[in-house]
Amino acid sequence: MEIVVGPFVYQVKDEDVSSFEDGGHDLIGQVDYLDLVIRIAAKNAPAVVFAARWHETLHALNEMFALGLDESQVDRLSHGIAMVLRDNPHLGKFPGR
Ligand SMILES: [Zn+2]
Repeated sequence: MEIVVGPFVYQVKDEDVSSFEDGGHDLIGQVDYLDLVIRIAAKNAPAVVFAARWHETLHALNEMFALGLDESQVDRLSHGIAMVLRDNPHLGKFPGR
């Protein structure tokens, strides 16, 4: 899977683990802005994996547009987007594509 964010094409790597350890924190996803890789701990419920993909995509948008979102804001927005798309799947379809 790829996630395109403007000129950057991120390669999404779903890994068969439930989390990644990073400095004492357990993460479900990680984004590398230089190598353009998003790693997802895919050994989780599908809804968690879905939200994690959005979480890392929001980090990529945050980086590209220098939005200044903090981790908590990215987390809450990713859950909000997952919630809205679950309840309104037609919103995920871009016209003409
Ligand atoms: Zn994050």
